[in-house]
Amino acid sequence: MARKSATVFASVVAGVAVLVVGCSDPASDSAPASTTATSGRAAPAPASGQAAPAPGNLPRITILATGGTIAGKANANSAVGYTAGEASAKDLIDAVPGIDKIATLSTEQISNIGSQDMSDAVWLPLARRINEIFAGNKADGVVITHGTDTIEETAFFLDNVVAADKPVVLAGSMRPSTALSADGPANLRSAVQVAASPDARGHGTLVVLNDTIHGAHDVTKTNTTSLQTFVSPNDGPVGHVDAAEVHFYRPATEQHRPRFPVPENSMPRVDIVYSYAGVDADPVNDALGHDAKGIVLAGVGDGNTAKPVLSALGDAAKKGIIAVRSTRVGSGSTVRNAEVNDDDLGTVASLDLNPSKSRILVQLLLVNDITDPHKVQDAFATR
Ligand code: ASP
Repeated sequence: MARKSATVFASVVAGVAVLVVGCSDPASDSAPASTTATSGRAAPAPASGQAAPAPGNLPRITILATGGTIAGKANANSAVGYTAGEASAKDLIDAVPGIDKIATLSTEQISNIGSQDMSDAVWLPLARRINEIFAGNKADGVVITHGTDTIEETAFFLDNVVAADKPVVLAGSMRPSTALSADGPANLRSAVQVAASPDARGHGTLVVLNDTIHGAHDVTKTNTTSLQTFVSPNDGPVGHVDAAEVHFYRPATEQHRPRFPVPENSMPRVDIVYSYAGVDADPVNDALGHDAKGIVLAGVGDGNTAKPVLSALGDAAKKGIIAVRSTRVGSGSTVRNAEVNDDDLGTVASLDLNPSKSRILVQLLLVNDITDPHKVQDAFATR
């Protein structure tokens, strides 16, 4: 993927450094009992165009660990098998030499699961904890270690409910911590570099893997096992990281974007219905039979599907169900009123949100009583 190099914002986070003794101890900031801390020793050089941390103070980064392959360990009896979510947050940072020269770190274990089991049971306390950390000025940035299977969903959820513009950066890995050439330590280092960079402020929630920085809205996993699995198919990545610097290709623009309050209770059921040749309306009717309040179509092509499915979606929309047309195709926009007449059906076009992120947006809209199709369409256009 071509990198946009016309405008490069660089933050130096390592390299030439003034040697000072790190003295802050985030563990004293009323952190949970599971918190551990490491204190940094070297201050970074000033970031371009941004206030540097006060002399003697490295950026304070809190690492919230949730599990995933980055915390995975090999199974003793298998050449390829491993179990996600085995190593602790402290194990993860201990595997990254020199990370204490980039930031003063504190760690909290939020969960230790494979992200295939991620749900709002983890999202809601995670989002609350991030808001609490920033509201109390307990950290300058947050890094979340996470499985790669649903990292883009968690990133999108947080992007919509974290109230501050301080950096929130998710990192995962494709190889478990015990693998040859495990990618987790490098990805964690990169994520801390990004979260410690003043230039990351206002970019919304970010995902960092394989030296590349992606925005929550666009990022998606495209390969089952490759290290270069994450892409931002519509807008391209927002930057990259090297050993010394964080480079953003465009300035932050998201400071004034509205956020939802973190939902108090688990979010309403919204189902995704996949389309294929020969599909019928049964999956839509099943979703309604299970009390789904919203349905997202993972349609063929431009959010299209067979006539019986479209008709069932239109009927659902007329009964107040939010019916969104997205696409199973990996890139491009689902266009409103192109081959499908959304005005007649009462459906909403997901534009460039993929089905799993569309589902989360519909859940957040339902929690906030936004169900009118025009208002739902506006939300898809602005988030
Ligand atoms: N199943 C793992 C997970 O999402 C895969 C990974 O992290 O790469 O937790």
